[in-house]
Amino acid sequence: MTVNQTFMVLDTPRRQEDPFKTRLCKSYAVGGDEDCKYGVHCKFIHPEDEEQYMRLIEYTEEYRRVKGDVQKEVQHLHGLKRTINDAIKANAIDEWINRRIRLFNEVYPKAPNYYDLHGMSTRGAVNYVMDICQMMRINNISTSWLETGRGNQTLIIFH
Ligand SMILES: [Zn+2]
Repeated sequence: MTVNQTFMVLDTPRRQEDPFKTRLCKSYAVGGDEDCKYGVHCKFIHPEDEEQYMRLIEYTEEYRRVKGDVQKEVQHLHGLKRTINDAIKANAIDEWINRRIRLFNEVYPKAPNYYDLHGMSTRGAVNYVMDICQMMRINNISTSWLETGRGNQTLIIFH
């Protein structure tokens, strides 16, 4: 990889959760204007409150349903791949799986700049991370989250 970056596994406890941040700010609810006048001082959850926001989305019915559908589809495709004895077809199935997971991340991100790589092939995940790094550089984003299965999170930080 040619980009200058650090991969850091989050193993240190994060800052104490703000007890006020327990419900979603209505500016960020469905139909909200996404422009809360309280900004960083708002006592409700904003997308920048990454952990709380993620937890909030994770427990919505729609997110769980869509995620469940994607996981089922990906599992089915992995099963299909195991029955195939043809490298070209197996690669095509991998590409299908990887595209499906990318699409899910784009349409249902758990938080801003959050990517769930669970189920991707190794090559697919590496390519995705390279694309994410490029997108971060283009858009001047300094931090992104990567989830790599079983809830493990890795943070990409640019120096
Ligand atoms: Zn707010």
